[in-house]
Amino acid sequence: MPAHTILVAEDDAAIRELVTHHLEREGFTVTGVADGHAALRRARGGADLVVLDVGLPGVDGYDVARTLRREERTVPIVMLTARCDEIDRVLGFELGADDYLSKPFSARELVVRVKAILRRTGRAIAQAGPVLRFGRLEIDQGAREARVDGTDVRLKPREFALLMELAGNAGVALSRDWLLQRVWGFDFNGDERTIDVHVHRLREKIEERWQLPPLVRTVHGFGYKFLRP
Ligand code: CA
Repeated sequence: MPAHTILVAEDDAAIRELVTHHLEREGFTVTGVADGHAALRRARGGADLVVLDVGLPGVDGYDVARTLRREERTVPIVMLTARCDEIDRVLGFELGADDYLSKPFSARELVVRVKAILRRTGRAIAQAGPVLRFGRLEIDQGAREARVDGTDVRLKPREFALLMELAGNAGVALSRDWLLQRVWGFDFNGDERTIDVHVHRLREKIEERWQLPPLVRTVHGFGYKFLRP
């Protein structure tokens, strides 16, 4: 398997070099850039994951992340924040970051997070197989697309991962805790309400928008269950 390519966008040369050193030691191919324009250019050129500083010159990290998501790029993003008040924005659905680290952080911790995210996304690729079909809904694991009547419903990466986890276990009640661990990873810092918000988005984007019968049922005090139509 070819080495994963990690883009490190950080204008502080000392941090950039430290992170690069630790990632390269783990066998990753690393490209370092020091401003937002270069980050966008390189990310569009293809990377398996982006480590993105919020405070970048040129285009800041928020705008880089927002632009990539607007362009429907699903590359995982780990944001580096310098202030506590940046965290809420970073984790906001608009930006769609997969994880974040607050400065000062340990480079070893960053490597752990990067590997966890690549394992999650890699797992989905490894499972790529026939398209799952539930009535009018199709879930294409290879293309990472959910389609209703053949039209892509445009899920964000985390929404797709949650749908995959639910639909892949159709008929089984899954606890919120289980879903958090499977979809967000063991080191997730948020709370279980995150699941509820994402399920709500799935219902809006799939059931309500396309007037489908309910696909995801709430199991009170426990979690969620995907229903076979
Ligand atoms: Ca900075």
